Formats: sequence, C-alpha cells, structure tokens
Amino acid sequence: KGLQVAIDGPASAGKSTVAKKVAKKFGYVYCDTGAMYRSVTWAALQANLSMDDKEAIVELAQKINISFQPGDPEQRVFVDNHEVTKEIRSNEVAENVSAVAAIPEVRSEMVQEQRKIAGQGGIVMDGRDIGTTVLPNAPVKIFLVASAYERARRRFEENKAKGIATSTLEELQKAIELRDQKDSTRKVSPLTKASDAIEIDSTHLTINEVVDEISKIIEK
Ligand code: C5P
Repeated sequence: KGLQVAIDGPASAGKSTVAKKVAKKFGYVYCDTGAMYRSVTWAALQANLSMDDKEAIVELAQKINISFQPGDPEQRVFVDNHEVTKEIRSNEVAENVSAVAAIPEVRSEMVQEQRKIAGQGGIVMDGRDIGTTVLPNAPVKIFLVASAYERARRRFEENKAKGIATSTLEELQKAIELRDQKDSTRKVSPLTKASDAIEIDSTHLTINEVVDEISKIIEK
C-alpha cells in the first residue's frame, strides 16, 4: 500500500513541490496540511472574525469542510463548496495563519482530519508537525530546510509566475522569517525537527535532487 512519508520544515523550503513529485513517483496520495490551516484562516477572514476571537475561530474550524481535488498544475482546495485554491495564498492569509494555527483546538481538529487522510500509508504529507505529532510513527521523516534568502527568492519567483500580488523580495523574506518565528515558538506542536527525521538542506539543491534523495530513503 505504501509508506507514510512526513515532510516538515520552515515556510517556503520547497516542501509542497517536492512532496507532490515524490507522491506522483510512488503513486502515493499527497496532502498539503498548510492548505488546511490557510483554509481556516481564509474562512475566519471571510466571516470578519477577529483573530483574537479564538472561540469563534474554533467553532468555524469545526463547522467547515475542507477538501482537496486533483488539479493541474496544483491541487484544488475547497472550503465547503467554495474554491479557495488561489485565495489561501494571499498575503492577508499568510500574515494571519500562524495565529490561527497556534490555537490548540484548531490543531486537534486538523490533526484528526490529517490522520484520517493518511490512513495506513501510501501518503506524502507536508507541514510543520507531521513527523512530531500527526504521524509520529511514520517510517520516513524528512526535515527540509533552506536559507531564508533562498526561500524568499523562490517564493518571489513562484508568486510572480502564478500572478499572485507580492511585496519586494526583502519584505517577503521578513514575512517568511516572522512566520517561522511564530510557528517555532507557539506552545502546541511548534515547528521542530523530529529526533528521527533526516534533515535535507535544499539551498544548493535542485528540486529533482531533493526528490531523488527522498526516493532513496523511501526505497531503503
Ligand atoms: O505550509 P504553509 O506555508 O502553507 O503553511 C501555512 C501555515 O500553516 C504555517 O505557517 C503554520 O502556521 C501552519 N501550519 C501548521 N502546521 C502544519 C502546516 C501548516 O501549523 N502542519
């Protein structure tokens, strides 16, 4: 049926690009857990909720249905019947998602869904807490990192290509570093490398080189 493959790391380290390719190569399902936290954030902004109103955000997270559909070039994301594939990549969502993802009850709701999706295996799941919390028994755990400058540069190019409004490269790097800092310092399952995860630094690697490295680990 296949293995459970957990890929964690800081923002814009290339997790989703690499995870998608690995999933395709092995015929596994791909799950972008960041898209789930972004979807809750999008829904909260859409409902004009204050980011301090944790109770209302938790209620919303429990109420909405987040789903994925295959799509080209990227997986499509839906909140109930509304497609949010593009909306969840906005600056506004990126700026608020760490606060939403720090709410314990939001996390337990998402983790429960993620474990259902992961099932027994044949899954590549990317996020921040997959190896530590969501799938602690996953036989393959990757912690993917890259320098902050390189991550900002890649995201900048990606946004441009996708036609997403973006700030300057410098501002983008600051925003990415701020999000990492929030994600690493929250109380519940902060971004951290699982003790049994293999760290891969992609700063000087191509996408295919990273995919090859992970493939070797899966095939071992
Ligand atoms: O991966 P992505 O950058 O889309 O994730 C967006 C945000 O969602 C992260 O900055 C983090 O706050 C949150 N997240 C999380 N746990 C995950 C995946 C994402 O807290 N497993």
